[in-house]
Amino acid sequence: MQSLRKLHPGRGLDLQDVATPCAPGPGEVLLKVKSTGVCGTDLHIDEWTASYHFVTAALPVTVGHEFSGEIAALGEGVAGLTVQQLVAVRPSVVCGQCEACRAGQADACVTRRGIGVTRDGGFAPWVLVPARNCVPIPAGVDAEVAALTEPLTVSHEAVRTGNVQQGDRVLVLGPGNIGQGIAIFARAAGARQVVVAGHGDAARFEVLRKMGFKELIDFAATGMEAGLAPYLQSGKFDVVIEATGAAAVIEPALRALKTHGILVITGIHAAPVAIDLTALVRQHQQIRGSYRAPERAWPEVVEFMRSHQETLRHMITHRVPLARAYEGFALARSKVATKVMVQAEPETTP
Ligand SMILES: [Zn+2]
Ligand SMILES: [Zn+2]
Repeated sequence: MQSLRKLHPGRGLDLQDVATPCAPGPGEVLLKVKSTGVCGTDLHIDEWTASYHFVTAALPVTVGHEFSGEIAALGEGVAGLTVQQLVAVRPSVVCGQCEACRAGQADACVTRRGIGVTRDGGFAPWVLVPARNCVPIPAGVDAEVAALTEPLTVSHEAVRTGNVQQGDRVLVLGPGNIGQGIAIFARAAGARQVVVAGHGDAARFEVLRKMGFKELIDFAATGMEAGLAPYLQSGKFDVVIEATGAAAVIEPALRALKTHGILVITGIHAAPVAIDLTALVRQHQQIRGSYRAPERAWPEVVEFMRSHQETLRHMITHRVPLARAYEGFALARSKVATKVMVQAEPETTP
């Protein structure tokens, strides 16, 4: 089967013919991959960004960690899942036995691997995954929307980390897929106002408009300070959530945040950022990082999908076949796409 793989340390990914996985081992399932989203992580692995060099030890590896699939076969001992069931896949594979796992700190598991990062993932027609990483998708939610589960959990966790409350005013910096999900979950948490800002992001703002967001600022037209000014007239924001990875937004973000406000960082920043700590101290502000969502977030997000499928579907702006995955990567890199879905070609049974 054709799979999109990282073969060597360094730039680039290759479409490679690999053996189709067949019988799942104990505790595993074989999935027929339905849809796989292109994520910023995939772009970083492709570009070989320094913060992803840890992948080296796992090469060669099939990338793609945002996917849904249909269960084709169950390994020994798998309970609670059925053949033909649609599932989303939680990428984080942990041992469940080490000290960290037993202490409930699964992210610190000594053998932790990421499906589609350091273990074969979803840019392929078939993949073997641990049964315990499969999250059943409710009837009525389709496979493409189900493939949004992983990025939506990241957005969900960012809003939880920001402790967004009923009546809050929330500023979201970055209107990409993660920022859009943050806007949706902030609204669902009862935020009174959700303002989303970007930089030359007309296409992504169009998606946000379709999802019902109207307070959108393009800093490319106004600059950040002037763009925020009208909103700051009625006071500073309770919570600012950053999803840009752009160093230049952090200082102005803190200035737009009220006393005791929380700034959540979700962007992957290529360089350290200088901030005025005295101002932060005097205003009792908090900066919190947010990254991978805990396991318990997944069923909540999937449940949310059931009633918001049509809203979430607007995020899927482009579709490409696996053989042309690279075109999808280029679209994801441009600010034209929100989420590009890659579909593996239908192939014969494994
Ligand atoms: Zn992702
Ligand atoms: Zn462990």
